Amino acid sequence: MSRLSPRALNCAPSPTLAITAKANQLKADGHDVLGFGAGEPDFDTPQHIKDAAIDALAKGKTKYTPSAGIPELRKAICEKLKTDNGLDYAPGNVIVSCGGKHTLYNIFQAMVSEGDEVVIPAPYWVSYPEQVKLADGTPVILQTTDETNFAPTIDQLKAAITPKTKIVVLNSPSNPTGAMWPRATIEALAELAIQHDFYVISDEIYEKIVYDANEFISIAALGPEIKKRTFTVNGMSKAYSMTGWRLGYVAAEAEYVGAMNRLQDQSTSNPTSIAQWAGLAALTGDQSFLAEWCTEFDARRKLIVAGLNGIDGLSCLMPEGAFYVFPKVSALYGKTTPEGKTLQSGDDVADYLLATQKVAVVPGSGFGADDYVRLSYATSRATIEKGVARIAEAVAALK
Ligand SMILES: *Cc1c(COP(=O)(O)O)cnc(C)c1O
Repeated sequence: MSRLSPRALNCAPSPTLAITAKANQLKADGHDVLGFGAGEPDFDTPQHIKDAAIDALAKGKTKYTPSAGIPELRKAICEKLKTDNGLDYAPGNVIVSCGGKHTLYNIFQAMVSEGDEVVIPAPYWVSYPEQVKLADGTPVILQTTDETNFAPTIDQLKAAITPKTKIVVLNSPSNPTGAMWPRATIEALAELAIQHDFYVISDEIYEKIVYDANEFISIAALGPEIKKRTFTVNGMSKAYSMTGWRLGYVAAEAEYVGAMNRLQDQSTSNPTSIAQWAGLAALTGDQSFLAEWCTEFDARRKLIVAGLNGIDGLSCLMPEGAFYVFPKVSALYGKTTPEGKTLQSGDDVADYLLATQKVAVVPGSGFGADDYVRLSYATSRATIEKGVARIAEAVAALK
């Protein structure tokens, strides 16, 4: 009998971190590994943001802050939500936590209890179901495919709602697919939430990385009734390339934010003080680098999609946001590798690519979508070109 808690025993390891560890081991052994696993921008944190942290350090801003974050940052978040998203929130509606992941964790802890269902459209970000389980809730997976551009149909959404539905998770643009939901589907979700009185967690972490004429929508901005039921989640990791700083936040009804504040008081307390000052500089400083990053991501996006679709057996939708592609690989099932292994899953395909061509991709199984793999294009164009060529070679060697 394990002496671990059922909670710990049931908590799955992160598959994205696992593939990164495998790839790093191969690199350490001297192999020329091409990594497409990274879930973070490859750009450095902009200098003015780093300077703000250095300045905070020099000025001794190194002590506890209010658990929910420094008032300056919470005020700046309210201004951001007003300007970018058309949302009116007071600082009492906002809490800053140690990354978007921690923010989501606190929301589930504050809102979910045994018997509550949380609807999670798949392919999903790996942490949602695990965090729901850690809150004793029941994840209800709503499966979508590339046939509907990885968005549920309105009928699918309706069918997933039961009297036990407490929350529906919305992540548009999505990790792992880069897909965005059509406006009509987001509007339908808002109507359903009001009608059935459930909450929506809108994970808006990829808000700033949107291509072409695609429209980013904050569901809370659709009206006061849905705003009351929405947790608008965002953070500094993706838009400002600040993954290591650990800053995320949510805006919601004050009562719920108050509960999250109590949980945070008794667990982590405040996010790192100097990171918060850097976060303030990120939100209030120059934003022009963002357009440059998006232009570069856009070029890589087109390069990788064209490359992958040029390979017989792979099919890849054009992502609308974020920095991932999610090609379907199931046409390769039944083929045999030169080593004599028959491919039967996305996991097999990912293992094969890593073993034979030293190309690290993340199998779709961890995202609730077995027939796909995820590649991040937060890497150089040269790496993308080499990676596509190696994948083509690996696929050509199949019988
Ligand atoms: C990266 C990511 C987050 C948050 O990451 P943090 O570094 O914890 O802020 C949240 N949701 C999705 C979908 C992500 O990809």
